[in-house]
Amino acid sequence: MATKQEKRIAEYARLFRVKPGSKVNLGRDFDPGFKADVVRKKDGGELLRRGIALLADYQARLAAQDTYGVLVCLQALDAGGKDGTIRHVMSGVNPQGVAVHGFKVPSAEELDHDFLWRYARRLPERGQIAIFNRSHYEEVVVVRVHPENLDRQKLPAESKGPGVWARRYREINDWERYLTDNGFRIVKIFLNLSREEQRTRFLKRLDLPEKNWKFSSHDIAERERWDDYQEAFSEMLSHTSTRWAPWYVIPADRKWFARLAAAVVLANALIAIDPRYPTVSAAARKDLAQVKDVLLAQAPKGAARDPFEERLSRRRRKAKRREDAHATELVVAGVSDGKVEAP
Ligand code: AMP
Ligand code: MG
Repeated sequence: MATKQEKRIAEYARLFRVKPGSKVNLGRDFDPGFKADVVRKKDGGELLRRGIALLADYQARLAAQDTYGVLVCLQALDAGGKDGTIRHVMSGVNPQGVAVHGFKVPSAEELDHDFLWRYARRLPERGQIAIFNRSHYEEVVVVRVHPENLDRQKLPAESKGPGVWARRYREINDWERYLTDNGFRIVKIFLNLSREEQRTRFLKRLDLPEKNWKFSSHDIAERERWDDYQEAFSEMLSHTSTRWAPWYVIPADRKWFARLAAAVVLANALIAIDPRYPTVSAAARKDLAQVKDVLLAQAPKGAARDPFEERLSRRRRKAKRREDAHATELVVAGVSDGKVEAP
């Protein structure tokens, strides 16, 4: 049964989900400045910390179970906050279980292959979370806004004529469905930034010397194509939000809120997988018990038979004492027992 926390996470994630089959107009349908009214910035940090702890726990189970893999695709306009989102949201998880891959202008070798090739080479292993910082969706966004990219892809004439975008949407959907059928869950996040907030962030990159390196004049040229990008992203969202791999549009004008929302969407996907630590068969447990007896018999004179078990019960007794003391304090303070909501 879903816990209260799991239900809340599912409810929040649903706020950002693009209903499969719906026609999206980014500017009309999504507010980059939205923040769910119950969340204040003050609480946002604490919620994110809790979300990160939850992700760490789920990631450990995902890795131990070694059955499902998760692919997170992050898309945004320049200065949308992809790097910061990755840095914050993944800060608590074991680096061994996560791989981050960025995709830039394709290399000559990449252009010598079909358009999904370079992304397929970076897919997660079972038990792993892979994050694509930009993804195969560039193939229907930047390539669509700048068709000279398509010319560079060395496609035969019949593969780049009319219908190429509709075909790519279908091919991407089919590919993602195939991956889903094979145990890989795909979490697609679009960080939705407003034009004014992008202006502010570009200015920040110009104003702060330590941010200068992040700025490229290419970003300004791309900003000139704002409307074309909005349209390409709207088309992408309309055609590739599927039952098996829906898009989540996350309001990105407040960084703290975008990070919290991204953590929620990822946590929701992991909760749905519900990975479990592998359990041991009855026969194997019997073997373990025999091995334990051997180790117990090896205790040197004067030493605890099972030092670990001893340490554990000491820790439990201490926690129990702390809990009792806390309960007494509350009663003394006049707060009735059992009525205090967990934070
Ligand atoms: P950045 O992520 O800021 O380092 O920039 C990477 C650049 O690579 C962006 O301008 C992307 O639009 C561009 N890029 C990513 N994928 C493709 C692609 N498939 N074709 C052409 N350009 C791409
Ligand atoms: Mg850039």
